[in-house]
Amino acid sequence: MNKTFALIRGDGIGPEIVEQAKRCLDAVAERFGHEFLYVDVDMGGVAIDKYGEPLPETELNKCLSSDAVLLGAVGGKKWDDVAPDLRPEKGLLKLRKSLGTFANVRPTKIWRGLGHLSPIRRSSGVDFVIVRELTGGVYFGEHRTDKTAEGLVASDVMTYSEEEIRRIAIVAFETAAKRRKKVCSVDKSNVLDTSRLWRKVVHEVALDYPDIDLSDMLVDNCAMQIVKNPAQFDVIVTENMFGDILSDEAAQVSGSIGLIPSASNGAGVGLYEPIHGSAPDIAGRDVADPIGTILSAAMMLRDLDLNKEAACMEKAVETFLSEGYRTVDIATDSEDVVLGCSECGKTIARLILEEKI
Ligand code: NAD
Repeated sequence: MNKTFALIRGDGIGPEIVEQAKRCLDAVAERFGHEFLYVDVDMGGVAIDKYGEPLPETELNKCLSSDAVLLGAVGGKKWDDVAPDLRPEKGLLKLRKSLGTFANVRPTKIWRGLGHLSPIRRSSGVDFVIVRELTGGVYFGEHRTDKTAEGLVASDVMTYSEEEIRRIAIVAFETAAKRRKKVCSVDKSNVLDTSRLWRKVVHEVALDYPDIDLSDMLVDNCAMQIVKNPAQFDVIVTENMFGDILSDEAAQVSGSIGLIPSASNGAGVGLYEPIHGSAPDIAGRDVADPIGTILSAAMMLRDLDLNKEAACMEKAVETFLSEGYRTVDIATDSEDVVLGCSECGKTIARLILEEKI
């Protein structure tokens, strides 16, 4: 099969980790007889330096005409003082908007042998996904601050339409159908109208998925349950701001920010990226953990229906960790075999070629 991937290496550790994911994709192509083509796209600080803006149209168009986009990370101190509209993150927002990616999917898993890195004591069996609505809600409503006789008054409007809720609910049920068949819908329906509509629409969608077990949970309780008993969850679906907060909380459960991938999907081209930033403090030292990016590439393959290939990549990461290989962020034991970023990529690529699957 032929596929074209837009590669956004970005800033900081971005080029180092994307290179390792590419190495692993090449191993998948070799093993399964595919042809993967890569188109390099400049976005973020690197594009500001080259073109004076974080995502020029020519670069964006390369993404729009690819099968999927794999991103490292953007940003860094060097561009902190540029005009707000030219900041590296603006490139990312423009990309997400142009791709129409309304669903952000973030898995949280505690890998075998890494339970001791988790701050959660009851960490066994933790393997869940947060499906976050990404293009609606309070972040996209009207924001205003008015001068009144009583002083300044600020407001942020939270809006959701039935259609916006329906399409993200469908993503959640479809995700659960391929997993342990449980959806937990998180809202604040004891207070918010948007949440009451959310709950009504999610229950309507559930009628089309009779074999999926649906439960509702208030967001404050969910924040507590993720710490108390994260193994109870399979798929959590929630609106934009709740998802933003809960997914960062969930990220900590797995033990290292470097391990967690994400996918953002919409109607067309999907965007795949690790959840961390450009880590300028370790950039250029070949110590970054590329696993979050490699697992993002696996999610990319699965969304393109290359299921066996995705499973092979994930299995190779599992074998890598179970054989005691570590990057410095997850090395704690004197018996750990500590590898640099590029050796880590090379080893996982080798395991992809050798993995029994
Ligand atoms: P960060 O995620 O880059 O780093 C936080 C800490 O985690 C650092 O100590 C870093 O060394 C470590 N870390 C992150 N990724 C790692 C990896 N793969 N392996 C090992 N350690 C890793 O967050 P930050 O320091 O707050 O932000 C740095 C820059 O990244 C900022 O300019 C920020 O705006 C940007 N950022 C970009 C994205 C994105 O591109 N999607 C997301 C978040 C932050």
